[in-house]
Amino acid sequence: MSSPSQALAWLDDALAELDLQQLRRQLRTRYGAQGATIDVDGLDVDGRDVDGRRLINFASNDYLALADEPVVRRAALQVLEREGVGSGASPLIVGRSEAHARLETALAEFEGSEAALLFPSGFAANSGTIPALAGPGDAIFSDAKNHASLVDGCRLSRAEVHIYRHGDVDHLRELLAGSSTARRRLIVTDSLFSMDGDLAPLTQLADLAEQCDAMLLVDEAHATGVFGRQGRGVAEHLGVEDRVDVKVGTLSKALGVAGGFVAGSQALVAWLANRDRPYVFSTAAPPAMAAAALAALRIVEEQPQRRCELLEAAANLRTHLFEQGWQIGKSESQIVPIYLGEADAALAAAAHLAERGFLVPAIRPPSVPPGEALLRLSLRWDHTSEMLAELVEAFRELQVVAR
Ligand SMILES: *Cc1c(COP(=O)(O)O)cnc(C)c1O
Repeated sequence: MSSPSQALAWLDDALAELDLQQLRRQLRTRYGAQGATIDVDGLDVDGRDVDGRRLINFASNDYLALADEPVVRRAALQVLEREGVGSGASPLIVGRSEAHARLETALAEFEGSEAALLFPSGFAANSGTIPALAGPGDAIFSDAKNHASLVDGCRLSRAEVHIYRHGDVDHLRELLAGSSTARRRLIVTDSLFSMDGDLAPLTQLADLAEQCDAMLLVDEAHATGVFGRQGRGVAEHLGVEDRVDVKVGTLSKALGVAGGFVAGSQALVAWLANRDRPYVFSTAAPPAMAAAALAALRIVEEQPQRRCELLEAAANLRTHLFEQGWQIGKSESQIVPIYLGEADAALAAAAHLAERGFLVPAIRPPSVPPGEALLRLSLRWDHTSEMLAELVEAFRELQVVAR
C-alpha cells in the first residue's frame, strides 16, 4: 500500500502546470466589512505580494450595498440572540425555523408566485433542482455560458444534455427539433450572465419552451434585486415572468446575505421539498441568515432607487470604456467585462489597476474558455461618481501602458 503522500504526489505536478499557465489561484483574505472600499491581502501586483491594501471594490456581487447595511445586520443579530447560530438539521427534520418560513412566504409574494423554497446556497438550488426535474430519458437544453451550478445540475441529472451556443435561439430550436423521443424537456439558462453581463433572450426562450412543451428554468442569481421595476429580475424586466416555470434566485448577491431560492407553483415547491437532494440532505442555513435576507428584501422593495442608480452608473461607465476602445461585449448590466484574451494580459491589467487603488478581478480559465480572459468589473450602488471617474482615468492610463 502506498502512503497517502505518495498517492497525492501528482498534485505537485498538476499545481506546477497551473503556475506555468498563469492559472493558479491564490487565496485572498478580506479584513473587516466590505463596502465601496475593501481591505484585502494576497494581492499579487507585478509578482509581489501586497499586504493589507485598501482598494476600491469592483470585485464583489454585493451590488446594492446590503451586506453591511445596518438594518440587515440588526435583523440578523436579533434572531441570532434569540435562536442561536446553527439550524441543527435539514429543513424537513427540524432545521426550518420561523424565520425561514417567513422568508419563504415573503419571497413567494415578492416573486408573485404561489410558493418559494430556500436553499443554503444558489449553487445548491441549481445543482439540486435540475436533477429533481429531469432524469434518464429526458433532455436538457443548456446555454453554453451557463453558470457552473447549472452545468453540474445537468450532469447530475443523467438526462441527455444539449448545449446550445450562447444566446443562440436558432441553435436551440434545431436541438429541440432533434429531441422528439425525450420524455420531458427542460431549458435552463442564466438570466444575466455572470461573466459577460449580457441578458438571455428570455422572450424567445419562453416562445420555444411553449412550442415544444418544454419546462423553462431561469437562474436570476445576478439579477434578483437589480433588474425589473420591482427588482424581481430579467424575466420581470422583459415581461415574461408568467412564462417561466422555475425561477431560481440568490440571497447571496444583491441581497447581500447568503443562500438561494426557487419560486414557482405549489406543486413545484412540494416536489422539490421531497426530491431535491441538497434541500433534503443539507442542513438549513442559520435562521439569522433568513432574517437578514428578509430585511434585505424589504429594502429592495422599498428603495428602487438603489437599482435604478446602479444601472444608470453602469450604463455611463460602459459608455466611457467603450469610447476608450475597450472590448466590453454585450453587457447591459452592472457587470462590465473588459475582454483581454490571454490570462497574462488580464493579470497584468488587474495588477496595474490594483497599483492605482482598484480591486478588479482577472477572470481566467476555467471560469472562462482559454483565450477569453477578461477583467470583470462589478459595480455597487455605493460607488461614488468620483470613484467611477477615477476608474475611467485608470483605464485611460492602462490603455497607454498596454500599447
Ligand atoms: C453565484 C451564482 C450562483 C450561485 O449562487 P450562490 O448563492 O453564490 O451559491 C448560481 N447561479 C449563478 C448564475 C451565479 O452567478
